[in-house]
Amino acid sequence: MRRKPLNTAARSKLSKYARQLSQLAILLAEAGSRVERAYWKNRLFAAIAPHLQGTSETTLNQALDYLYETHLRAYDEMAFALETAVESPDLSPEKDVLLIAAPVLAWSTYSIPSGRIDPARMEDLYALFNSHLLAAGCDIVLMDLLFSPDQLPPSYNAAADLSRSLAQAVLQEQRITVDYSTLPVTQPFLSDVRYLIGCISAPKGAAMFRWQEESPGTGIPALSREDVQSEWKKHAGQQLQRILTGCNIETVLPNGLYSACRLAEKEARAYSVRASVAFLQTAIDAKPTDLHASVGAFVDRGEIEEYRIGLTVEGSDEVVHGVVWTLLGEEFGNEPDPMFEKDINSEPENPLVRTRIKELLAEVGINNVHMLEERFPLEYCDDCGAPLYPNPEGELMHAELPEDADVSTSQLH
Ligand SMILES: [Zn+2]
Repeated sequence: MRRKPLNTAARSKLSKYARQLSQLAILLAEAGSRVERAYWKNRLFAAIAPHLQGTSETTLNQALDYLYETHLRAYDEMAFALETAVESPDLSPEKDVLLIAAPVLAWSTYSIPSGRIDPARMEDLYALFNSHLLAAGCDIVLMDLLFSPDQLPPSYNAAADLSRSLAQAVLQEQRITVDYSTLPVTQPFLSDVRYLIGCISAPKGAAMFRWQEESPGTGIPALSREDVQSEWKKHAGQQLQRILTGCNIETVLPNGLYSACRLAEKEARAYSVRASVAFLQTAIDAKPTDLHASVGAFVDRGEIEEYRIGLTVEGSDEVVHGVVWTLLGEEFGNEPDPMFEKDINSEPENPLVRTRIKELLAEVGINNVHMLEERFPLEYCDDCGAPLYPNPEGELMHAELPEDADVSTSQLH
């Protein structure tokens, strides 16, 4: 859940409301008992609520930035409280609601579909969620759209708006259709994530997902999360394959919006490495053993933001394809120190990340790995916005397939 602060320029002066939020989060983090925790938690949620109604997030971001610099445990409490408040608006005394996402990882040399889902397919999706995900007595409303990552709500406020309208729909047992025209255009990638978004309602305090349902008389769940996941993989895989035609897909178990998105982002990294290797095999007939991977750390505002993997073919320094490895949660380096302007070459690294990347590359059969020690600026192509990737010499390059490559779309990143 830990991530970089959004706006470091705002860290100097806290508004009155941001100070109140930060203090409540610190008091919650330092509470000595469950009773005290419950007390501060109620206060924090009550203080957050008005800030999720408007359009400005300055106060929330100021509080998060401040806690990120001064008290990481309180930062986690604050971020978790915000996510909970967004996903489960308190709109009914009898029902709990939860904004959910069902991610699916996809890769294709054609463009990966997004946007409106056919009404007949929506009926199948409702049946799927009811039989393989929801606990008995729950309802769900689903949006009739397949979202790409850049179409997800961009802020806590936008997510809170969406959450409230979906929650109202599910509580009133209504379906919902969305105005697709207002969403940003999806950029084509070889491998990407798509999301179904919806809202579940359950009687207060009751199970929402099948893995929570007790087996009568035992006091423990009848199905494990893994059981539900493997059923989901099978049935949702079939349904989603019909929507994502021409794609190779892999489903991720649905959950609350933020945890589902985090899990999808994490799994998407390994997935896109595998997709790239499979793609290069088809497009330019390059076996994994012919490929070289050059791995570099990319720095923004003095901190490592992501790693980029440039793929080249034995005997050439031209990058043919690349993968971005976004850092998540605990993978960020040491805690930032606002007192020093850092030399980007001295930024501490979490050694785990390079180990993970290397293991994954070995798993897909790439053993020629160049771990570049220098740090790179976060650069993109001026024309198309594609990330630039390192080659074995440590030069940043635009990924380009050779002209005779066998691909069906022109713009793949
Ligand atoms: Zn370009």
